[in-house]
Amino acid sequence: SNKETLLSVDDIEVFYGETQALFGVSLDVYEGELVTMIGGNGAGKTTTLRTISGLLSPRVGSITFKGDGIAGEGPDEIVKLGISQAPEGRMLFSGLTVEENLYAGAYHRSDEAAVEEDLEMVYDYFPQLPDLLDHNAEDLSGGQQQMLTIGRALMSDPDLLLMDEPSLGLAPQLVQTIGGIVEDLRDDGQTILLVEQNAELALDISDRGYVVQTGEVVASGPTEELRDTDAVRSAYFGQ
Ligand code: ATP
Repeated sequence: SNKETLLSVDDIEVFYGETQALFGVSLDVYEGELVTMIGGNGAGKTTTLRTISGLLSPRVGSITFKGDGIAGEGPDEIVKLGISQAPEGRMLFSGLTVEENLYAGAYHRSDEAAVEEDLEMVYDYFPQLPDLLDHNAEDLSGGQQQMLTIGRALMSDPDLLLMDEPSLGLAPQLVQTIGGIVEDLRDDGQTILLVEQNAELALDISDRGYVVQTGEVVASGPTEELRDTDAVRSAYFGQ
C-alpha cells in the first residue's frame, strides 16, 4: 500500500541525567494507523512518548513528523505541529472544571467555530462529559477522568494522538469501553500511537505493534503476527 509515513522515530537514545532509559528505539507510524507500543514496567514506553511530545530530548537519533525533524522542539511547538498526548495518570488541571479542561486542550487554536465542532465530536465519543461540564476535574471518577484526558487531547485537533496507558487503573468493563473508543477514533481516521501494559487489549485493537524491553525494541509487526512471537508469548501470555 502507499500509506504516508506520519511519524518516524529513528534510533533514539534518551537519558535521565546519567541514566540511560532508551538504547536506540526506532518506530514508524503511518497515516490512519493505530500502532501500539507494549512492554512491562520501566521498559521505556512513557519515555518514548515524552520524547516525541518534546518533554525530553534524544541525545542521539532523530524524530521526523510530516517530513520535518522535530527532536529538540519544545512541547508547545510539538502540539502546534499536530501531536498531542493523553498522558498517563491523567494529569488533568485539577483546579479547573471539565469544560475548562477541554478548552485548555484547544488553547493554541483561534478558529472558534472549529473548536466548537471538535467539542461536539468529543461529546459524541464521550456522552457522559456534557453532563459534567461544571464539575471540578478532580471530583470525577477514574473512568471519567480518563475520558476527559482523551477528550482534552483531541481538542487540539491532533494529526497524531499519543495515548499513555488509557486502561490503567480502570475496571475491566471500562477497559473494554475505552478500547472500543480508541478503535472508533482510528476508524474515524485518527492516527494513534498507543502505549499499554495491557498487551491483550493493545494487540486486540491495534494494527501494528512494537514490543519494548529495557529501552530497546525487541519485536515488531502486525499485531496478529506479534501475538505469536516468543517475546510476546513469554512476556504476556505465560507460554
Ligand atoms: P511504566 O509503565 O512504569 O511507566 P515505561 O515503560 O513507561 O514504564 P519509563 O517510565 O519510560 O518506562 O521508564 C524507562 C526507564 O527510565 C526506567 O528504567 C525508569 O526507571 C527510568 N526513568 C523514568 N523516569 C525517570 C526519571 N524521571 N528519572 C530517572 N529515571 C527515570
